[in-house]
Amino acid sequence: MAEKLYTIPVNEVFDKKCECPVCEIYHSLEKSSLEFTMGPSYMEDDIRAMTDKTGFCRMHSEKLLGMNNRLGMALILKTHTDKVNKDISKLSSNMKSKGFFKKADNKELLDYIKELNTSCFVCNRINEVFDRYIATIFHLWKNDSSFKEKYLKSEGFCVEHFGMLVERAESELSGKTKEEFVEVTVKLYNDNMERINEDLAWFINKFDYKYKDEPWKNSKDSVPRALTKLNGIIVEEQ
Ligand SMILES: [Zn+2]
Ligand SMILES: [Zn+2]
Repeated sequence: MAEKLYTIPVNEVFDKKCECPVCEIYHSLEKSSLEFTMGPSYMEDDIRAMTDKTGFCRMHSEKLLGMNNRLGMALILKTHTDKVNKDISKLSSNMKSKGFFKKADNKELLDYIKELNTSCFVCNRINEVFDRYIATIFHLWKNDSSFKEKYLKSEGFCVEHFGMLVERAESELSGKTKEEFVEVTVKLYNDNMERINEDLAWFINKFDYKYKDEPWKNSKDSVPRALTKLNGIIVEEQ
C-alpha cells in the first residue's frame, strides 16, 4: 500500500502568508495533538497507559497546563506518577541490593530516567504524521507544477526547517530536480532572512525621533516574525 500523502493540507499551508509553512504544519499538528490529549481520550485506558509511560516534555506540559483543565491534568498526572514512582522505586532498590556505591549499577535507573525525560505523548503523536507531511512537500514539488509555483512565491523558512528541507532533499529527490529544489530553497531562505533583518532595522529606526513621521512599512510585527524564523515560535493572532 502506498504511504499516505497530505496534499490538501500542505497546499493550504503554502497558500497562507507566513514566515515558515513547515512551522505552520507542525503548529497545526501540535494543536490537534494537544486538544486530543486534553479531550475525552484521556479517560480511555489505552491512551492513559501511553501517557502513564511517556509523560510529556517540558514545552508540552506548559502548553497542556495553559489549556485550563486542571482536573483532567490531575487525572493524567496521578496515574503517570503512580507508574513512575513504582518504576523508580523498584529500579533504585535493585541498585541498592547490588551495592549502592558501585558506578555501573546505576545504569538501569539512569537509562529509565533518560528515556522518561526525552519521551512525550504529544511529541510522539505529532511525529507519527509530521514526516509524511514533509514527504508530501517533495512529492508535490516533483509532480504538481502549481505547487511548485506556490513554493517559489513562499516567504522562506525558519532556520531549523530550512536545514531539514535541504537534508531531506538528499533522500527524497535526485539529479536536476534535487539541484533545483536546493538552489531555490537556499535562495528563498537567504532572501527572506534578509527581508526580516531589514524589517527589524526599520522597526528600530522608528524609535528614533528622526523617523517618527515615517510609515512603519512592514516592521510592526517584525519581532514575532523574526522569532518564527529563528526559533519556530508562532504567536497566535489575538
Ligand atoms: Zn519552521
Ligand atoms: Zn512534547
